[in-house]
Amino acid sequence: MMGDVAHRVGVRLNVLATSIQDAAVATADQVVIGEPDDPFALDELARDVDVVTFDHELVDLDLVESLSQRGVAVRPAATALRYAVDKAFQRRRFAEHGLPVPRFVVTDSAGDPALWRFLSGLSSPPVVKVARGGYDGRGVYFPESMDDVRALVRSLKAEVVVEERLELRGEVAQLVVRAVDGEMVHYPLVSTVQADGMCVEVRFPADAPDLAGEAAMLGERIAELIGVVGVLAIELFVTDGGLVINEVALRPHNTGHWTIEGAATDQFSNHLLAVSGQSLGPATPIVAHAVMVNVVGGDEPTVPAAGRAIDGAFVHDYGKAWRPGRKLGHVTAVGDDATLARVTAWAGARAYGTRTRETT
Ligand code: ADP
Repeated sequence: MMGDVAHRVGVRLNVLATSIQDAAVATADQVVIGEPDDPFALDELARDVDVVTFDHELVDLDLVESLSQRGVAVRPAATALRYAVDKAFQRRRFAEHGLPVPRFVVTDSAGDPALWRFLSGLSSPPVVKVARGGYDGRGVYFPESMDDVRALVRSLKAEVVVEERLELRGEVAQLVVRAVDGEMVHYPLVSTVQADGMCVEVRFPADAPDLAGEAAMLGERIAELIGVVGVLAIELFVTDGGLVINEVALRPHNTGHWTIEGAATDQFSNHLLAVSGQSLGPATPIVAHAVMVNVVGGDEPTVPAAGRAIDGAFVHDYGKAWRPGRKLGHVTAVGDDATLARVTAWAGARAYGTRTRETT
């Protein structure tokens, strides 16, 4: 999706892709084939570009850092990316700065006294998250007893964040974009609906309009602290005690896909404007309502054209090979009527063949 808008914002895209089949290849000006943690592939990419940026966080921070040290402009920088790559680092830093995060402990050992102390202070089992490498709910566990927590920590054999399981009233996401000179814009708050740890639906405006100001302030504070350049997406829990930070992503994000149809400048354009050192576009909405539904592969191959046949459904097909459980595209509907936008987006996604189900 960055490739679709790159030329409009005056950017040529050279893409490092793991295979010629990768969706990003179709819109790239030039392609380097290689793994994101292959130093030779990264060197080849860096040689021909003015700036390196990212569309996922499964990157090797040391390699990214070594690019910067050799004078390559990397935006966001490795020091900023670390907040998205390493959940343990993120939780510690945010807690140190007084930002709202769930109570947590970081450990890699089931016998850790700090883990025992933490668990004894909880009334119900916590959530366990691998510090690195998880995404779309993978690497996030909801054990049913304290014994299960210890067994899990033992079996994972990795650094984990163990955190209190909060009573959620809902989930929202705040997108902020920060330019090289520190200028910032923020998109309006959206509500997100999750199922099986994966985002299923995003709604603008958020169901919690009273939280918009607090979320925007929190977003800009976090963007400053991280020193991000480009899009920063912050996933937040809505609890009785207010907003609590779940996680951050330093790239265009699923919760901002609605901006393609719904905002004056879409998140992909703004990310490229930011990382290429240009001034940002306005992040104001241009529609009253937008609903985005992810299309996740089910038992049968999906059919984007069937989604396009639904009136008012904007279908985005990522060109990925179909596989059950894989995010293959999304459908957005916009308009003055919230219910109609929602019904249309879901009708499009169902016709397209998503396996996700609408929740109320
Ligand atoms: P991922 O990094 O794979 O996207 P998240 O950390 O966002 O995983 O967790 C996935 C989902 O699990 C969240 O969207 C939320 O619904 C639920 N969840 C995660 N942490 C907690 C928590 N501390 N309390 C309650 N629910 C949680």
